[in-house]
Amino acid sequence: MNLANLDLWASKKGIQVMGAGDFTHPMWFQELKEELEPAEQGLYKRKPSFAKATEGKGQNKGTRFVFTSEISCIYSKEGQVRKIHLILLAPSLAAVEKINTQLGWIGNLKSDGRPILGIDVKEVVKIVLGADPSSLVVPSHMWTPWFSVFGSKSGFNSMQECFDEYTKYIYAGETGLSSDPAMNWRLSALDKIALISNSDSHSLEKIGREANVFDTDLSFGAIAGAIKSKDPKRFLYTVEFFPEEGKYHYDGHRLCNVSLSPKESKKQNNICPVCKRPLTIGVLNRVAELADRPEGFHPDNAIPFKSLIPLQEIIADALHQGVGTKRGKEEYEKLIRRFENEFAVLLDAPEKELQEATLPEIAEGIVRVREGKVQIEPGYDGEYGKIKIFEEDEQRYSLSQKTLF
Ligand SMILES: [Zn+2]
Ligand SMILES: [Zn+2]
Repeated sequence: MNLANLDLWASKKGIQVMGAGDFTHPMWFQELKEELEPAEQGLYKRKPSFAKATEGKGQNKGTRFVFTSEISCIYSKEGQVRKIHLILLAPSLAAVEKINTQLGWIGNLKSDGRPILGIDVKEVVKIVLGADPSSLVVPSHMWTPWFSVFGSKSGFNSMQECFDEYTKYIYAGETGLSSDPAMNWRLSALDKIALISNSDSHSLEKIGREANVFDTDLSFGAIAGAIKSKDPKRFLYTVEFFPEEGKYHYDGHRLCNVSLSPKESKKQNNICPVCKRPLTIGVLNRVAELADRPEGFHPDNAIPFKSLIPLQEIIADALHQGVGTKRGKEEYEKLIRRFENEFAVLLDAPEKELQEATLPEIAEGIVRVREGKVQIEPGYDGEYGKIKIFEEDEQRYSLSQKTLF
């Protein structure tokens, strides 16, 4: 995941502004400083000398990068160990330098792209806003059990308990892959903040599996302004995983092969029927525990969302193959070339044009995902959910025809 590849894959996916990630890591930050130059306010692009070297290798569109990093805070508060991930967004190289210097006094930033720091999250807010008051601190994947602000294992029951007098500087929270905005709308306490969605990608193919769609000027300030204001004219919608697909939607034990809905867990008193130890309580259960509104509640100021499945997974299911086969990759590249990028394929391409461009079952798969006609075996205890767009015995006509000929 070097800058050349991030640039290329952001273009393939249809992403204009991308988090560069891991700015706390000295070697990666060095690379960012070498290869990036300022573009619009708070945004950076690859220097022409670097961009030139990879020209012609794809439909590179000059992706804008914003300085982001995730850190893991492990500390004790009110007699309990807390483990919370935060995303930091900084508007300039100078701000990043200041943040890194101060976080470097607390822990080893070289050990990992997401360093573990023994620091209270509100001290982090103090450092980051001290470096530049327009920076943002965002609680990552707010509901996951082990490392989040509301996590069942080591989180809090409210933002206020967690951030105290710094709560007012928390303008957004990440829904994470295992929850979607509709689930979060059940908490009136979250009406104040924007629900944002980032892909937490870890690999090039997974870039953009979640995303935020803005209609603003191209600058850090304009994007941050859209988030802070929750203005639906500027913050249009988020792109979401189906939450069942995330790794912590249901409760359970991966090693015991036990997956339970919140209702079933209750019947078992949250104890695993196989190993008799406490279950890993997932996101659906935890949201219900803290919710003060019924399922299906829609707050007035809510930013809408669209649920999608990554194109490579749709193709894999349509072809009845695993993700990443040669055939699947060919179909993927063909569609990207024809419609310019993955979001254009998933969100905008008219059905008729899809049918002309690819196999009928792939076109059908894309349309079904748009209509939400998918079945998902929910993820639990670190295991991703399993998607089914087509029934097991459903005829994949063109494939069977090809075999016939
Ligand atoms: Zn995280
Ligand atoms: Zn178990």
